[in-house]
Amino acid sequence: MVRYVYDFAEGGRDMADLLGGKGANLAEMTRLGLPVPPGFIVTTEACRAFLATGAEPDGMSREVSRHLSAVEAGAGRLLGQPDDPLLLSVRSGARFSMPGMMETVLDIGLNDDSVLGLAKSSGSERFAWDSYRRLVQMFGSTVMGVDSALFERALERLKELRGAPDDLHLEAGDLAELVDAYKILIRDETGEDFPQSPAEQLRRAILAVFRSWNGERARLYRRREHIPDDLGTAVTVQRMVFGNLGADSGSGVAFTRDPATGQPGPYGDYLSNAQGEDVVSGIRNTVPLAGLERLVPDAYRELCAHLRTLEQHYRDLCDIEFTIERGKLWMLQTRVGKRTAEAAFAIAAELVDEGLIAPDEGVARVSGEGLARLMFPRFDVSATGAALAHGIAASPGAAFGAVVFDSAEAVRRAAAGEKVVLVRQETTPDDLPGMVAAQAVLTSRGGKTSHAAVVARGMGKVCVCGAEELAVDTEARRFTTRDGTVFEEGTVLSVDGSAGAVYPGAAPLVDSAVMRYLETGERDPESAGVVDAVARALRQADTVRRLEVRANADTPEDAARARRFGAQGIGLCRTEHMFLGDRRKLVEEMILASGDAERDRALEALLPLQRRDFTGILEAMDGLPVTIRLLDPPLHEFLPDRTELAVRIAAAEAAGNPPDPHDTELLGAVNRMHEENPMLGLRGVRLGLVVPGLVAMQVRAVAEAVVERTRAGGSPQAEIMVPLVGAVEELRLAREEVERVLAEVSEESGVPVRCPVGTMIELPRAALTAGRIAEEAEFFSFGTNDLTQTTWGFSRDDVEAAFFSAYLDKGVFATSPFETIDRTGVGRLVEIAVAEGRAARPGLKIGVCGEHGGDPDSVHFFHTAGLDYVSCSPFRVPVARLEAGRAAL
Ligand code: PEP
Ligand code: MG
Repeated sequence: MVRYVYDFAEGGRDMADLLGGKGANLAEMTRLGLPVPPGFIVTTEACRAFLATGAEPDGMSREVSRHLSAVEAGAGRLLGQPDDPLLLSVRSGARFSMPGMMETVLDIGLNDDSVLGLAKSSGSERFAWDSYRRLVQMFGSTVMGVDSALFERALERLKELRGAPDDLHLEAGDLAELVDAYKILIRDETGEDFPQSPAEQLRRAILAVFRSWNGERARLYRRREHIPDDLGTAVTVQRMVFGNLGADSGSGVAFTRDPATGQPGPYGDYLSNAQGEDVVSGIRNTVPLAGLERLVPDAYRELCAHLRTLEQHYRDLCDIEFTIERGKLWMLQTRVGKRTAEAAFAIAAELVDEGLIAPDEGVARVSGEGLARLMFPRFDVSATGAALAHGIAASPGAAFGAVVFDSAEAVRRAAAGEKVVLVRQETTPDDLPGMVAAQAVLTSRGGKTSHAAVVARGMGKVCVCGAEELAVDTEARRFTTRDGTVFEEGTVLSVDGSAGAVYPGAAPLVDSAVMRYLETGERDPESAGVVDAVARALRQADTVRRLEVRANADTPEDAARARRFGAQGIGLCRTEHMFLGDRRKLVEEMILASGDAERDRALEALLPLQRRDFTGILEAMDGLPVTIRLLDPPLHEFLPDRTELAVRIAAAEAAGNPPDPHDTELLGAVNRMHEENPMLGLRGVRLGLVVPGLVAMQVRAVAEAVVERTRAGGSPQAEIMVPLVGAVEELRLAREEVERVLAEVSEESGVPVRCPVGTMIELPRAALTAGRIAEEAEFFSFGTNDLTQTTWGFSRDDVEAAFFSAYLDKGVFATSPFETIDRTGVGRLVEIAVAEGRAARPGLKIGVCGEHGGDPDSVHFFHTAGLDYVSCSPFRVPVARLEAGRAAL
């Protein structure tokens, strides 16, 4: 029989699929003997069943009652018992953490009777009525769907009436009055009364949490984080403990290490006489954890001991939420904590040193995406001038943009291409779209664990929070600094999330220390820690990876840089990039040539230039393979724009002048060559087969460069690659020409030139006939840009703007298939081509040189698919090395 409910003592951390991350970890802490308030978990399976049918699954409520009885028996009190009520919290908890994205209901079990009992048992009438009004408010908005602003307005009205500057100045009687006002509000808005039955409160709260899985916030977050939509959330039901029962009570958040830098030792925020929500919302400013040592020393010592236990047990940085109720410590949540990229590398290295994890696991704990983040530039502090405010360095990096004060404006301006900085007093989950759209987030309140900080860190977005010197007025859309300077919406601001500083204007940026190390091997003392940690992770990745990493480069400078980044050769040298600039004229002459002699002259003029390019690249990559691709794009790309030419001619005619004859000739050529679908037209191998002399000139340039480098004592390893082949016959013809020229140059020079000849696999037909093609190809390289374009029938130049955002919204795919390889479709073609290619030619060398070669997820796929190497842009080489290592673990 299916079970829908588990007691904490029955679960464990390996059950996160069923119990959600929060539930599984509460179970784990319970089993470790840590002080966890008792409770139980309703499974994700129950949620999925409920969302599928709209009805509670059979037997679920019976199980809930049974587990509730056990909690009641342990506490010696009943849920909502009138004289001394047991109260419950009901929280969401999915497989993957989705902070603040779903619903929570606290203080379940309070009603008109038990509120009086709570007043007596807690000794505080005010506390009891405040808890009750929180329940009615939360239940009213979350479960019964009343607009939460209406409750806020009622609260504000009452405060005004009483002249109370904040909630704390409202008395028990005021709060009782507020409960009445809220109840009336609920009846007016829903036609229903706030339910007095504790059992009904519990049942409806559980279902509301289930429903919140499909709330708008949660969906948006999942899409961004690539969390599947069909997992559902578990619901954790737990005995309430209270941090707001006086000076020896409070709530806090703690980390076993600093999540921003990785520095060992307990770290966190604490708020005396407060509930957990007050800490994370950033509404009141917290004290650092060390402050707790003074306030409640015994609880502090116990907490530190538990943090050590958890870190040893999980062998990783953990974060926890805790509450102290009248001196007694309770652990409310733990999980392996989010951290900055810098901290991830530092912690991995330290845990390896401490012997807690093996070096391979150290590589698994970091990511290529994190490394890429560390390679970003930061502000040049020597040139920024004075900071206009300081806050907490909540999420590192440097960014600038125009100030905006709400999420909608951030989204609007970003959509129009503007860079924006979202400035708020504090953020709530409703600000998520604005945070996604902004370059940086700046808040005037809240600590390192506030919503803004946690969410920004997760997104890798620059964030400074708690910049208290700023008076943010979102209504008036401006903020004021301490010295009275006013910043209106639209003013440009620079935010340094690594230093926690804010500067006026667009501050100049400097390269990152990690980038400097990767490029030059230099390390500056200040950042030696993170640089060493990165170096160690890369070294370890290099020892375990099977995939080689090459670079896409077409200049000697890029080749040299790629080599410094650790590239093991060039996987794609796009020769068309060498046809631009000053040489365009020569290319034009080649295209416009009226006869063979004229064309040969143009090709002859291009030859030494191409040879020089190849010589430089072969020198920079001496001893390593350099895959040179024959000209690929349609020739008209090298001619001027058709419309521009036509306009120029028409303008000359309109002015009564004869048009420039060269322009007329060019227009004729452009018209002749015009194609409606150039990407499916005369390009790739087709060009080589129809433009006489083109292949010969390029191959000669390669071969002569090889001769030159060989004579200079080098070890050139050129490979010649034919693009856009769809049929083996195309490759055979091209190859004959290549071999002929190679033999010719060998003969002339007396230096044997031996270049492997291979092909790109960029068309579905090439993938499907890979066995045939391999008869003629000495290597394959997947051009996954074109292969994606031709498999989906998406124009790679147009779709991103045309309809990808709609497709992402509608969930057709979670990421652009041009960014991350579509494993099911394009990936299948890759697998077929690998299998058939190698069956026809055992040991066939196979790589990939589309953009996907530098994408972490795609690298894992190429590893599994059995490729020999990935090739990506030089800057992605370290990322690909790291991910290739992780893929091999
Ligand atoms: C490809 O198509 O993936 C490729 C690498 O070639 P290009 O991007 O130059 O078309
Ligand atoms: Mg291509």
